[in-house]
Amino acid sequence: MKILALNCGSSSVKYQLYDTDTNRLLAKGALERIGFVGTFIIHQTEYQKHRLECDCVNHKDAIFTVFKFLTDEEFGVISELNQIDAVGHRIVHGGELFNKSVLIDDKVINAIDSLASLAPLHNPPNLAGITAIKSLLPNVPQIAVFDTAFHQTMPPTAYLYAIPMKWYEKYGVRKYGFHGTSHLYVTRRAAKLLNKDIKDTKLISLHIGNGVSVTAVKGGKSIDTSMGFTPLDGAVMGTRSGSIDPAVVLFMIDKEGFSSEEVNTVLNKRSGVLGITGRYTDRRDIARVAQEGDKLCKLAMDIESYRLKKLIGEYYAVLGGIDAVIFTAGVGENSSIARKMVCDGLEHFGINIDNEKNETAHSEADISKNESPVKIFLIPTNEELVIIEDVKAILEGNYNSTDFKYSFEV
Ligand code: ADP
Repeated sequence: MKILALNCGSSSVKYQLYDTDTNRLLAKGALERIGFVGTFIIHQTEYQKHRLECDCVNHKDAIFTVFKFLTDEEFGVISELNQIDAVGHRIVHGGELFNKSVLIDDKVINAIDSLASLAPLHNPPNLAGITAIKSLLPNVPQIAVFDTAFHQTMPPTAYLYAIPMKWYEKYGVRKYGFHGTSHLYVTRRAAKLLNKDIKDTKLISLHIGNGVSVTAVKGGKSIDTSMGFTPLDGAVMGTRSGSIDPAVVLFMIDKEGFSSEEVNTVLNKRSGVLGITGRYTDRRDIARVAQEGDKLCKLAMDIESYRLKKLIGEYYAVLGGIDAVIFTAGVGENSSIARKMVCDGLEHFGINIDNEKNETAHSEADISKNESPVKIFLIPTNEELVIIEDVKAILEGNYNSTDFKYSFEV
């Protein structure tokens, strides 16, 4: 079966085409700056990589361009579009309506649309992708895989805020959590590395990329996570503040006369490590400049790792001990210094990092000391693979999101 995984953002479309019969990734790529000047596509196959300028005013144009590349005589990997058996979409917000992946029909489309007010920047482009496929490949089944679904197992004690209950009842104000497919994937992999049934595991996964979230996973189910009503909450991120006292918002509105949109922009786009350093979001730059003696970059690294340590402590408490801590995403997978700064000082929890293993690890690895009671894993995330697995299982009629039938052996 050939399955196309699509991630449609506001100005980009990322894609991967898998062949599940041969367990091969046939092609992947990204088309960026949709609707702006300078639109380009990066298209990669097993053997070659191309970057080309193109013209795309909307998602339909963009997906049409992706199709041209997939079937191109020179760059293509399939000869006809009808070789694509199904399309899986990453959908950011499923609210309380979706706790697992689903086959898309008109009811699902309307439901995703109805959740747009909870994710105004994400759900509309996700829907645009679904609509584009509907018109370009009308007979191909489409499946929605939600970022929030994995966290729907959180209990009300974890997902409700101590605010008037009416806000939840009337507007759905509660913690939803995000990066669900990533947390799901790495915790399933961790269970394999521990050689344990996922149902017998207690894990803390740290997804540290531009966006950062930490999740407590018990028996394969998310029981708490650091992102909240929106992805702004929790850990310090590249440009997002993470948790702050909500009164700061009101104070700044008073002081600077900000509109709600302006505060939103500052907290989402000009805060986090960018806010602290005033210059950098890329943790590689921050680590390099900190090493050269820059105090603000050093402070940004200290604050980011301190806050992650605190989240590990919180989740250690609610899980009642843990089997493993998992590092994933851009920073978690690539920055040994970030992993070390988070783990150092947590030895009293049984978390003992092995400095040599940590320095040399580049792919999936155990980076804890042999005698460490809690294992520390570096696990490259693979959200697309979760999409592919879900699409395949749904179409073959053996999808049961709680049974953990995933193979993840690609
Ligand atoms: P997102 O998907 O949230 O945009 P990624 O998971 O791709 O983010 O992570 C991007 C971040 O990963 C970048 O901000 C960069 O700082 C960080 N990163 C990538 N490689 C390294 C590295 N070798 N060392 C430190 N940080 C890295």
